[in-house]
Amino acid sequence: MKAVVVNPESTGVEIIQNKELRPLETGEALVEIEYCGVCHTDLHVAHGDFGKVPGRILGHEGIGIVKELAPDVKSLKVGDRVSVAWFFEGCGTCEYCTTGRETLCRTVKNAGYSVDGGMAEQCIVTADYAVKVPEGLDPAQASSITCAGVTTYKAIKEAQLQPGQWIVLYGAGGLGNLAVQYAKKVFNAHVIAVDINNDKLALAKEVGADIVINGREVDDVPGLIKEKTNGGAHSAVVTAVSKVAFNQAVDSVRAGGRVVAVGLPSEMMDLSIVKTVLDGIQVIGSLVGTRKDLEEAFQFGAEGLVVPVVEKRPVEDAVDVFDEMEAGTIQGRMVLDFTH
Ligand SMILES: [Zn+2]
Ligand SMILES: [Zn+2]
Repeated sequence: MKAVVVNPESTGVEIIQNKELRPLETGEALVEIEYCGVCHTDLHVAHGDFGKVPGRILGHEGIGIVKELAPDVKSLKVGDRVSVAWFFEGCGTCEYCTTGRETLCRTVKNAGYSVDGGMAEQCIVTADYAVKVPEGLDPAQASSITCAGVTTYKAIKEAQLQPGQWIVLYGAGGLGNLAVQYAKKVFNAHVIAVDINNDKLALAKEVGADIVINGREVDDVPGLIKEKTNGGAHSAVVTAVSKVAFNQAVDSVRAGGRVVAVGLPSEMMDLSIVKTVLDGIQVIGSLVGTRKDLEEAFQFGAEGLVVPVVEKRPVEDAVDVFDEMEAGTIQGRMVLDFTH
């Protein structure tokens, strides 16, 4: 079968035509992939940033139809539409897996990194960890919710955002755009989006941001946010890959505010101990989402509250898509189409 894999040098991707999958084992399902989104994390994996994995099938935004099941599987039926997510499988028994924090499992498996992922015509999944896509949700859009959607939805949950409160979202790209939609349409909050790209801000406005701020055009972003929100946002979610954004986020929230870190710049943030203590600021890291989070994030998509912006590309374009991502020329989400 056709698959997009990490090249032998672990410096990028290549498309191979003759990848063979092993037979199904206990608890597994074979999924015929329809779409798989391309994420920045895939670029990191392809470049060996988390360790070299030559030959690994990439992809953790896979959506497809169950074709075959191991005899013991009860949780899926042939014909179900399911996801292949970054949180591919937890151990099921550790303190994180048993307390609703399964993404923190220390022996977690990640699709497209530690196990073969969704950028192939077929993928083997652990049936109990493949989340069903509800009726009415477009599979290409579902692929985007499998990573960007659930990640931002979970981050907003971690922010403990209440209806009518202000949230500031640093970063209005692929994740930020979905964060705006979840914050506005699902959590009924007032939303400020901050980015340095006016096209992304225009899109954020279009999908519901109340206020958009270009960080390059405003001298004091936190000051402006405090003015607009009568003292600071109640919470901030940072998907921007920039230390500046993290620092501004801490200064943008009011006393008792929460800052949720999602973006992964390889830098340190400046965190004033005095401000943290006197203002009771909480800084929280948030990583993708659990199966339950994904089920909820999908459902809001199926109800039309959240509409991912995706562009379908033929699988044959995969190498180009990765090049474009590296060059930073992509707007919205590129989704590889395996249906043709
Ligand atoms: Zn991703
Ligand atoms: Zn575990």
